[in-house]
Amino acid sequence: MTRRELIDILSIPHTDTSAIEDLKHRAHEVMEREVGTEVYYRGIIEFSNICTLDCHYCGIRRSNTRVTDRYTLSKQEIIDTALWCAESGYGSLVLQSGERRDPAFISFVEDLIRTIRQESVSQRLPDGLGITLGIGEQEEETYQRLAESGAHRYLLRIETTNEALFRRIHPPSQTLTDRISCLKSLRKTGYQVGTGVMIGLPGQSIDMLADDILFFRDMDVDMIGMGPYIVHEDSPMAHRGMMEKESLMQLSLNMIAAVRLALPDVNIASTTALQALYPDGRERGLTYGANVTMPNLTPQSVRKGYQLYQGKPCVEESKTECRGCLRGRIASIGRTVGFDAWGDSPHALRRTRARHDSLSRTVSF
Ligand code: SAH
Repeated sequence: MTRRELIDILSIPHTDTSAIEDLKHRAHEVMEREVGTEVYYRGIIEFSNICTLDCHYCGIRRSNTRVTDRYTLSKQEIIDTALWCAESGYGSLVLQSGERRDPAFISFVEDLIRTIRQESVSQRLPDGLGITLGIGEQEEETYQRLAESGAHRYLLRIETTNEALFRRIHPPSQTLTDRISCLKSLRKTGYQVGTGVMIGLPGQSIDMLADDILFFRDMDVDMIGMGPYIVHEDSPMAHRGMMEKESLMQLSLNMIAAVRLALPDVNIASTTALQALYPDGRERGLTYGANVTMPNLTPQSVRKGYQLYQGKPCVEESKTECRGCLRGRIASIGRTVGFDAWGDSPHALRRTRARHDSLSRTVSF
């Protein structure tokens, strides 16, 4: 895929039904061939909304004093939820939170990972739950420690690869260079690496999104999670508004399909933010080449405290309700769920195998 081809795909308007059908068809074909049609679950626990950063777009950023219910779930609550996840057949878990880098927090996460890996081992999951972390920018040493504890995937969105735009949506202390170096550290410390961007940010162009996709490819990432940018009323970006809903939805879906065509064998998530735009948003993402979705397991009592953007869906629901609902949604588009599996992307498996092969070659010489 060239930059020009990506731009053409991203520019397809929601009114051009024949171009849309063609795009969905191409994306589905590549997905089926490269990663299969099963949808993999990653149960997500948003275990703390305490954050030391101040991203201008985010509802839980440090200086949003309107979030009065800052919480961190207890170890027991998190472990119980993780075990529910394993018993429900979701082979993989995401631990996500606001950003903290203090030693107490890191030790807490380390302990969580070890305990979850040990306690979730069963006949169905001989290696326990797969664990993905989403706890933001950390020191390389920290990434290393957490990998040694048993986490094997990490999500860190680049948000945008355009330097000027990155600067506009973050305080000066957060830089694109730092984010890129974190992604490199994650790769170096052995994780399967996921990244992504927000789509439809004020000031973002189609060209920038095409460059984002080329960046994903150059960074050789294993997973992609992207979603529409949705304004949060208590944020410094509120006055800049957001894209009109229908166009934003189409642009987000075009992005998913374009990523599938450009990076055929990675895992692509159909994210919750799509569902904030339209109730069937996540299913629609799956029909444009996405193969992963993330059921929300965060206890209902704290869900209201983790509103990154306005109109986040399912805040009134429990994890059991989400389980039934999602299954129906996936069946509605004729797909099945890959239960009891980590669901690593073929891209990651190939990369690790290639490294292993080259190491053994070195040894035999
Ligand atoms: N602190 C962690 C995880 C929480 S934020 C981290 O940075 O990785 C997770 C993601 O939510 C962010 O990467 C961002 O892309 C997304 N997000 C935050 N605010 C948003 C908004 N207003 N609209 C859409 N997505 C948003």
